[in-house]
Amino acid sequence: MKKDDCIFCKIADGEIPSATVYEDDLFRVILDIAPAAKGHALILPKNHYDNLWELGEEEAKKVIGLAAKISAAQKKALGCDGINVLQNNGIAAGQSVFHFHMHLIPRYEEDQVEIPWKTLSYEDGEAQTVCDSIKEAMKEL
Ligand code: AMP
Ligand code: ZN
Repeated sequence: MKKDDCIFCKIADGEIPSATVYEDDLFRVILDIAPAAKGHALILPKNHYDNLWELGEEEAKKVIGLAAKISAAQKKALGCDGINVLQNNGIAAGQSVFHFHMHLIPRYEEDQVEIPWKTLSYEDGEAQTVCDSIKEAMKEL
């Protein structure tokens, strides 16, 4: 289940070389080519899924298990103070490569990495309405 014109499919199956920190039957974990911090890693499934909505539940479970392991290794190897686990879906969310991947970004006290958002607030009752709409949608999945 590869996609012909997908660069991450080619990297994941080894057709394009990469700095690989881990590999098994289902995943390859590589260093990001333009890292937010040194050691910034990407978990790539070997099968092609455009995004989180296409990734099956079984593989999703394995991704988070792998994220826990790789981030523990990053912390030990790099001595970082924290790690952001980040995963973008859709152009609006900042996704630029449309093969599911999870970012593991080492963080240090006082570093200059920016993952910011401005906070909003809810009008009276609005949070409950939003909450209910998501709960309703969950029933149809
Ligand atoms: P996103 O914006 O979440 O889709 O992230 C895509 C990430 O892939 C970016 O952080 C890029 O730096 C990274 N990237 C793109 N091409 C390559 C490549 N050939 N090897 C490693 N990382 C890459
Ligand atoms: Zn792909």
